[in-house]
Amino acid sequence: NATRILVCGGAGYIGSHLVRELSTQPDYEIIIVDNLSKGHKKSIPKGIKFEKADIRDKLALDRIFSKYKPDAVMHFCASISVGESVADPLGYYENNVAGTIYLLQTMKRHNVKYFIFSSSAAIFGNAKEVPIPDDAQPNPINPYGYTKFVVENILASSENAYGLKYICLRYFNACGAHESGDIGEDHHPETHLIPLVLQVALGQRDSISIFGDDYETKDGTCVRDYIHVTDLATAHIRALEYLVKENKSQSFNLGSGEGYSVKEVINAARNVTGHPIPDIVEARRIGDPAVLIAKSTRAEKILGWKRKYNTIESIVASAWKYHKTHINGYND
Ligand code: NAD
Repeated sequence: NATRILVCGGAGYIGSHLVRELSTQPDYEIIIVDNLSKGHKKSIPKGIKFEKADIRDKLALDRIFSKYKPDAVMHFCASISVGESVADPLGYYENNVAGTIYLLQTMKRHNVKYFIFSSSAAIFGNAKEVPIPDDAQPNPINPYGYTKFVVENILASSENAYGLKYICLRYFNACGAHESGDIGEDHHPETHLIPLVLQVALGQRDSISIFGDDYETKDGTCVRDYIHVTDLATAHIRALEYLVKENKSQSFNLGSGEGYSVKEVINAARNVTGHPIPDIVEARRIGDPAVLIAKSTRAEKILGWKRKYNTIESIVASAWKYHKTHINGYND
């Protein structure tokens, strides 16, 4: 009587870590759906069912739902780059919004009631109150953020109309890698700070760029909230338990409540790797808020969620364990 979970996007960075955590728990059967546009087949553990399919393919979804009869869907699929979303908004709305609509329609046809959605800090834009509370008013400032905000609204309307029960998890900066060092972050192109900094330590780039050092922050560089992927994975499991037990929809911010500046992250990487990691200060990027930090009060209170990784050194060390043994990511 295992609970069957369809993990859409389960071959991606965060999805693969969720799959690892979920596969250690009793009573869950996992089915991964991924088109492998960005995901990595090598991240999928042996024995886990995998269907290569695109969530925009309604026929494929119908076939998969008929075959596996899932009890719940966790939805990690998305196009994830803010810059790309500005250049190609239609592509982003198609994948992130239309793709999610097809998934929800299929769930409705097959009477699947529980949905967990990978939302983002990007829905908040330039937040008025920092740390950002769970009930802050979303105000996205780019197409990527809008796609997440639109889906959150679609979910609320679908609960109202069809009785769907959902949880939105708004991740702040996902980072780090599984403690085994077997799976980790391998995005192309890579835009996230920690893997980019570690590329310098690996000799794959000469220096790391700091975009602006004249912000009103402790050292002038931007401050962000870094949250370990395994902690994000654990939050999904708590969220699923909550959905099934309480049958209530809810949205949660997932962050650490603390911020680290770009310089602090680079210094942590210097300590962890022993490499000098030269940096170059460049002009500010348009649209970068000075500080983005989340309050995760709701997840802590309602889900009983607690972070395991609570220093930037421990996060960077876990990422380093993966990168130094996978210099070319999953191609190694
Ligand atoms: P990722 O690109 O590593 O994973 C996404 C996965 O979905 C990939 O395996 C990709 O192949 C798959 N996919 C994309 N479109 C698909 C489609 N149409 N059909 C089937 N599979 C498809 O990204 P990630 O960093 O793991 O992010 C996962 C989710 O978390 C995304 O929804 C993202 O918006 C959200 N998120 C990520 C971060 C972060 O810091 N990485 C922060 C906030 C929110």
